[in-house]
Amino acid sequence: MVSAIDDRVKESSVDLSRDSGRGNWGAWRASVSLAIGVLVLGLVAFKLMLPSEATSSQPAPTRTVFVTPAPEVNKAAPPSPSPEPVPPPPNPESCAEVACVALTFDDGPSAYTPALLDKLKELEVKATFFDLGQSVANNPEPVKRAAEEGHELGGHSWNHTSMAKQTPEQACADADRTARAIRDAAGVETSLLRPPYGTWNDAILHACANKTFVLWDVDTLDWSTHDVAKITAHGVDDPKPGSIVLMHGTVAETVDALPGIVAGLRAKGYKLVTVSELFDSPLAPDQAIYSGPRTGVPAG
Ligand SMILES: [Zn+2]
Repeated sequence: MVSAIDDRVKESSVDLSRDSGRGNWGAWRASVSLAIGVLVLGLVAFKLMLPSEATSSQPAPTRTVFVTPAPEVNKAAPPSPSPEPVPPPPNPESCAEVACVALTFDDGPSAYTPALLDKLKELEVKATFFDLGQSVANNPEPVKRAAEEGHELGGHSWNHTSMAKQTPEQACADADRTARAIRDAAGVETSLLRPPYGTWNDAILHACANKTFVLWDVDTLDWSTHDVAKITAHGVDDPKPGSIVLMHGTVAETVDALPGIVAGLRAKGYKLVTVSELFDSPLAPDQAIYSGPRTGVPAG
C-alpha cells in the first residue's frame, strides 16, 4: 500500500516535474520574445529620434570653402630685388642720341683746298664746304673732289656780296646761280646756303624759299687771328652737342689747326659729321639754323 502510494507520488512527481519543466520553458520563451520586442521597439524609437538627411525637413547646412593656391615660394634662395631696367645703347648714327659737331669751311675753293681735303681724308672727317660761285666756276676741280670724298657742299653767294645789300630777288638769283655752278662742277644739287657775313632777314629767307640758311654757333675767328693755337682752342673748347663750327678754306693756319681740333673734339666724345647729318630727317627749306639738336651727350 505504501509502495503504491509512493509510486503514484513518484509518478505524480514525474508528471509534475514534466509539467513544471514544460511551464518554465514557455515562460522563458515568452520572456525572450518580450525582450526582443522591446529591443526592436527601442531601436525603432531611437532611429526616429535621430536627425536624418533623408527624413529631416530642414535643408542640410552647406559650407563653402575657398581654397587659394599657395604662392610658389623659392625656398632655396630668398627673392632678390628686380634689377633696374637697362636703357638701350644710343644709336651711333643719330645725332639726336650721340653728341655731334659739324665742321664747316667758307669762301673756297682756294689754293688751300687740296691740302685741307688731304688733311680731312687723313683724319677721316667729313665736313661741309660753303663755296663762292665765282671761285667754283674758276676752279671746279677741288669742288668735284670734295663731293667725291663724301663732303657736303653749299653755296656762299657768287662773290661774297652781302645779301642784305641786295633786293631779296637779287639775293636769291645770286644764290641760285651759285648752286648751279656747284652742280656743274660736282654734279650735286644743293639747297644749303650760308649768307655772307651771316647777314639775312626774313624777307630774304622767304624769297629764297628753296634754300635752307645755315649759320653757325661757334666761330674759330681763324679769319681774324690766323693763330693755330687760338684757332685750335676755339675749335675744341667752344662746341656743344649739335654745334656748327665756322672756319675758312682760305686760311693756311686753319689747315694746320685741323688735326688738333679733330683730336680734341673726339677726346671729348664728339662725333664729327656734315651739317645734314646733324639731323635725322632731311633739312627743310625756308628756315635758318644755327646748330643741330642739343640732345646728344658726349660719350667721353
Ligand atoms: Zn665768307
